[in-house]
Amino acid sequence: MVKLVKWVLNKSGIIMYRGNPNISKVALTFDDGPHHENTIKILDILKQENIKATFFVSGKCAEDYPGIVRAAFAQGHLIANHSYEHEKKVSLIEGYKKTENIIKDITGRQSGFFRPPWGKVDLRQIGFALTKKIRIVLWSFDSADFELKKSEEVAGNISGAKINNGEIILLHDDYSHTVGALPEIISGLREKGFGFCTVEELCGSGQ
Ligand SMILES: [Zn+2]
Repeated sequence: MVKLVKWVLNKSGIIMYRGNPNISKVALTFDDGPHHENTIKILDILKQENIKATFFVSGKCAEDYPGIVRAAFAQGHLIANHSYEHEKKVSLIEGYKKTENIIKDITGRQSGFFRPPWGKVDLRQIGFALTKKIRIVLWSFDSADFELKKSEEVAGNISGAKINNGEIILLHDDYSHTVGALPEIISGLREKGFGFCTVEELCGSGQ
């Protein structure tokens, strides 16, 4: 039943769990940054590997490190919205709006892609997203870097899993163990025949 609800929401474009199943690409998504050291290291790896990814930035961190957001944008990554901060000092919608303004100030472009903290979506957000034509983006594969604290465990979790076309992979750019796992994650997915793109590119005719 839950699967069916997810499919309907994904199909309707209101909430995106996964992207186009007809292309052998996946989207690496990084939440909670930018981080003053780890995001920079991740950008270096992605540049070296010629990969475009998606960064769901926290508005507060983006305010603190606008130069990192600018660098990520200049490198061709999608800068997306993860609300202002995880703590609920302001409502999620207020956090979304505030963070959109911060992203626009830094990159000159609004994101229109929103991942609420913890992936918790409520009806108010869905209504807001519908009226404003915002894409709520969750994920179809959790790297579990939140629980797994070692690079080899995070990399092993992905390399041991069945990965499908259009998979949206959840990672966090504020963890050093995620940085450590990234080269192996990338090479493992490439060995399985996958390419990489942003969530925006992946959504096209997502199912
Ligand atoms: Zn988060």
